[in-house]
Amino acid sequence: MDGNQSTAAVLGGSVSGLAAATGLIRIADFDRVTVYERQEYDEKRVDCGEAINDTTLIPLAPTPENGFVNDVDGFQLRVYDGTDRPVDAPPLATANLHCEPGYICERDVVERRWAAALEARGVEFRTGRSVSPNDYADIVDSYDYVVDASGQPSLTLKARGETLEYTGDMVALNATVEGDFSAYANWPRIFFEGYVGYAWAFPKSDSHANVGIGWAGDRRPDDYFGALETAAERNSFPVPDRSDVNVATIPKGPSLDSARAYYPDENVFLVGDAAGIANRYQGEGICQGIRSAYLLATLIANGNESAYPQELYDLMRSEYRLAHLMRGTWVEHEDPELLASIADALEGLTIDDVTRRPATVLRRIVSRPTTAIELFADAGMLGRIYGSYTDTWEYSSV
Ligand SMILES: Cc1cc2nc3c(=O)[nH]c(=O)nc-3n(C[C@H](O)[C@H](O)[C@H](O)COP(=O)(O)OP(=O)(O)OC[C@H]3O[C@@H](n4cnc5c(N)ncnc54)[C@H](O)[C@@H]3O)c2cc1C
Repeated sequence: MDGNQSTAAVLGGSVSGLAAATGLIRIADFDRVTVYERQEYDEKRVDCGEAINDTTLIPLAPTPENGFVNDVDGFQLRVYDGTDRPVDAPPLATANLHCEPGYICERDVVERRWAAALEARGVEFRTGRSVSPNDYADIVDSYDYVVDASGQPSLTLKARGETLEYTGDMVALNATVEGDFSAYANWPRIFFEGYVGYAWAFPKSDSHANVGIGWAGDRRPDDYFGALETAAERNSFPVPDRSDVNVATIPKGPSLDSARAYYPDENVFLVGDAAGIANRYQGEGICQGIRSAYLLATLIANGNESAYPQELYDLMRSEYRLAHLMRGTWVEHEDPELLASIADALEGLTIDDVTRRPATVLRRIVSRPTTAIELFADAGMLGRIYGSYTDTWEYSSV
């Protein structure tokens, strides 16, 4: 910045956009921060699982009024030997992963309250209208900084005709259902059942929950809705009404070269799903998006924003590495027994450990030599180890 006051446009007012506005409004040199959001916050539709694993990243008190409705102790992984099993078949293994700062949220409420708090601090909101390609060009011309938090595919890559630069996605369905979740309200469940992906039941209270299913591999069902319904029956959560089910895609990060997260000629920066950084193994993207936006704001405050692509990559690297390896346990082996041994080995770790700390996870696995030998004595896994420690992701040479 040159010492004069600057302006910033934030495209997309979901978690990553709100985090960007939070970071930018704290910088004294900004006199105008405007968020463009196509939906109205009062009726915003949420296509998401609503588990926020580190709510300390959100500048709101974690109260039910602010949408933080279920303060969970952690998440329980339940590994089954397949989808063709009796309803009461016990899991091959379970692992309880602690998550002290985690909540299951009413995400629309969180976003509404967060936006209201920002508005009170002087952020301008233009809601209820989609930013068109023409609007995009005008915005890029009119503001000093543009933060694109419009999700995947981003407005920026659409404007450039480069949406094929995203290298892949996962598909997920979710809905909110009513039922009796009192047996595991504090330990939301994640069901691994032999395919590359999982189903989940995330209680918001004893009596309602966000449930869903997602596929991270190339093999996907012919009938997505039917697959969710049979997963619900198998895993004893209520079958959602089809009209309540959202179908959405999640980028599998790193699904975009981080160099494409910054366009210096126009001072455009991509954060969150727009930058393709959601976790490729379990689909989590809320905290990732918020962290990327805070990182960008810090770099702008320090006048070092040109370092954003590299810093974003550095921030995400250990998560990319671990996700690449964890996906290998599914993709290379497709062996529920092996997945069960790995789940056993992970018992008692935190969600943060199994998301962002490869060394911690690897230590746990090698402490079980039989599991480690079976997991790593495989050409595909060895290739993944090499790839993950040489940062070779699929958008480059793999
Ligand atoms: C079914 C499902 C379940 C998931 N579960 C979880 C979970 O439990 N926990 C987790 O951490 N992650 C989860 N994820 C991933 C998570 O939802 C995303 O990673 C996260 O929403 C990314 O946030 P974002 O702000 O970057 O983008 P988005 O949430 O995609 O937000 C983009 C925003 O931009 C707005 N926008 C888009 N285009 C325009 C336009 N032209 N003009 C104006 N505004 C525009 C949209 O309305 C939206 O508000 C899940 C995803 C799916 C699909």
